[in-house]
Amino acid sequence: SIPLGYFGGLGAASKHGILFKGASFLDTISKVNAVVMDKTGTLTQGVFQIKTIKTFQIEEHEFMSYVMAIETKSTHPIAKAILDYKIEQVQEAVDVKEIAGQGLSGTVHGTPVLVGNAKLMQAHNIQIPSETQVIVETVVFVAINAQFSGYIVIADALKEDAKDAITKLHEAGIRDIVMLSGDKESITQQVASELNIKTAKGGLLPEDKLNEVENMKQNPKYKVAFVGDGINDAPVLATSDVGIAMGGLGSDVAIETADVIIQTDQPSKIAQAIKIGRSTRAIVW
Ligand code: ADP
Ligand code: MG
Repeated sequence: SIPLGYFGGLGAASKHGILFKGASFLDTISKVNAVVMDKTGTLTQGVFQIKTIKTFQIEEHEFMSYVMAIETKSTHPIAKAILDYKIEQVQEAVDVKEIAGQGLSGTVHGTPVLVGNAKLMQAHNIQIPSETQVIVETVVFVAINAQFSGYIVIADALKEDAKDAITKLHEAGIRDIVMLSGDKESITQQVASELNIKTAKGGLLPEDKLNEVENMKQNPKYKVAFVGDGINDAPVLATSDVGIAMGGLGSDVAIETADVIIQTDQPSKIAQAIKIGRSTRAIVW
């Protein structure tokens, strides 16, 4: 039978909006000494806004009608920002495929369209203008009919308690904090330095994130928690010792796969969850 202390721990957690899927995760989280985190939607709000639209040999509204036709099929935070653009009529896209960590491909009225990051463009041999390399914000590139057609610069903001979240993890004695992102390297490093995260890697595909966590798990000194908002993160949530999902924008798959759900969407609750695990363990053992 499960000792009473566990129920106390589960109750204390739920009062803070932290949902443990089972008492055993209180025990596992108490031993966590490395926290690996996703960026977009976990440490940042994942609420993007369009800052700039630059088109090449195509009028902006027409350009956006292609892009929006494709993004209508995506639930990514980037899609939400792009779909905020005001347009008379969005066209119909078919065969839309999500390429994890890269973006989307599809067909609009017989014309192939690609919407995503530099990796997606490289994979299709589409040259991107060098001027975009100095942009620090997230850039979405668009190719229409295998021609580079323009880009959209979008900005995201840190969650209010993102910095506090890292401070609290440091205070809880967690020395290994790693941020992994599918977003570009420059923006990943900038966010990491703002948050005092020493180790960060950008430009990762979901399988790269999985490899990073698996490599850490190979080292017997680590008990790894992975924290994600879910879009593309389900495999890493499953492979980590404790998978923690952000409940706010988090996808259903993530919530199903995770062991712990932070329903308030605040990353500062990660340290709290670890502390509750530790104090429960102290009572039980
Ligand atoms: P993260 O949450 O770490 O930023 P994701 O794997 O969710 O990573 O996304 C990685 C990258 O793939 C994004 O930064 C973006 O460049 C691209 N991407 C994903 N989905 C879309 C989309 N719907 N539209 C455009 N680009 C996208
Ligand atoms: Mg994310």
